[in-house]
Amino acid sequence: MPFKVAIVGRPNVGKSSLFNRMIGSRLSITDDAPGVTRDRIYAKTEWLTKSFAVIDTGGIEISDAPFLEQIKQQADVAIQEADLIIFVVDSRSGLTDDDLFIAKRLYPTDKKVIVVVNKVDNVDLKQSIYEFYALGFGDPIAVSANHGIGVGELMDQIVQSMPEDFVDDEHEEAIRLAVIGYPNVGKSSLTNAILGQERVIVSDIAGTTRDAIDTPFTKDGVEYVIIDTAGIRKRGQVYENTEKYSVLRALQAIERCDVALIVVDGTRDVIAQDMHVAGYIQDYAKASVVVVNKWDIVQKDEKTMGVMKQSIYDTFKFLAYTEVCFVSAKENKRIDTLFPAINKAYESYNRRIPTSVMNDVLLDSVAMNPPAQFNHGKAKFSYMTQVSTKPPTFVIFVNDPSFVHFSYLRYLENQLRKAFDFTGSPLKLILRKKE
Ligand code: GDP
Ligand code: GDP
Repeated sequence: MPFKVAIVGRPNVGKSSLFNRMIGSRLSITDDAPGVTRDRIYAKTEWLTKSFAVIDTGGIEISDAPFLEQIKQQADVAIQEADLIIFVVDSRSGLTDDDLFIAKRLYPTDKKVIVVVNKVDNVDLKQSIYEFYALGFGDPIAVSANHGIGVGELMDQIVQSMPEDFVDDEHEEAIRLAVIGYPNVGKSSLTNAILGQERVIVSDIAGTTRDAIDTPFTKDGVEYVIIDTAGIRKRGQVYENTEKYSVLRALQAIERCDVALIVVDGTRDVIAQDMHVAGYIQDYAKASVVVVNKWDIVQKDEKTMGVMKQSIYDTFKFLAYTEVCFVSAKENKRIDTLFPAINKAYESYNRRIPTSVMNDVLLDSVAMNPPAQFNHGKAKFSYMTQVSTKPPTFVIFVNDPSFVHFSYLRYLENQLRKAFDFTGSPLKLILRKKE
């Protein structure tokens, strides 16, 4: 589990702006799924040599609860989830009743709270931080999320607040799996089937609490860790069943996994919610396997699998490179078919291509299908190099990146996929201007 920092504060103080500052922008250039809006509320970040996770509780809208109820619940989420809380206030409006309301909510926790006074865009506004001492959480830090002022100091303080001996226990050796999907598709059942025992199911009695548990297991000599999201849903607190809360859970699991098992219900068509969930996998650039569950109760003939596969590829266009498996979690059928797909996705995710071979592919691809003129210029590609894995990330040097049409980048990605096996893994292609 990473060290977790939650951002709280009333609306419009700049929580999401600060969140974005803290995590830096990590745009994925393979991102072109239309109509999928995804608000980021959870991400891992790094400062100096430490890494930690940031949660923007402002993104957790709790249905149509009244305003004060909303911020109360957001504060509760922060207290429950985080190791450290950042309480954002607004220098321009000064201390408000709502700030005091949130402060009161935070007093009972023994977690450290840092007050961050946002919108201190220039030195004249520095005076405004003093009144926030009244909140009783010690020295406030002045920042401007918009201009990036003071954010470094905040990050310093966060890192200093991390316990010396904090270990981000991510089981480095094992393949980390997250089981994700829309409610009721069978995530808990699948997790149980994989683990081969009723380990995830917990009591439905209200108030039963249980911490997230990552369960390691070994299969045919390969080590895995299954990141628990499914069981948590049943912890019994009122707002844990809300969509956004389960989204937060899913995001945390996706961020921490290598391979996401995207579970869909075989008895119905793939729907928008499935898309939404799968969209996160793309955002976080994780490897994946699509798991069609409840195969036991699907009316099928010899064509059904093919038809279902096609409909999945049609819907999840950005998962065209992902394998689809058909299982029955409940009946414990075909569970074994998952592991070859998982292992393959993980291998693809870690694949390194020798530079010389890769450049042959680049040159051949360009020769076969030269780029058209775009933005008043013609792209001239020099060479490419793989800069990292997880996912495989390539930098392509070109005379001017603005001459490269998006579809051409897509073409190059497809050529790479034809030349090398990247089944189950996304790829990142980054254009750089050759000096
Ligand atoms: P949230 O509701 O707390 O998540 O707040 P947002 O991040 O959405 O910001 C609310 C508004 O405050 C937006 O219009 C931001 O542009 C603005 N804002 C955020 N940070 C700053 C800042 O440092 N200075 C100024 N002047 N405006 C800011
Ligand atoms: P979750 O909300 O995604 O964790 O879904 P659950 O694992 O709690 O399952 C939701 C419902 O679907 C339960 O009633 C399960 O018994 C049922 N279910 C799960 N997997 C299967 C399956 O493979 N076949 C059938 N017929 N039902 C299943």
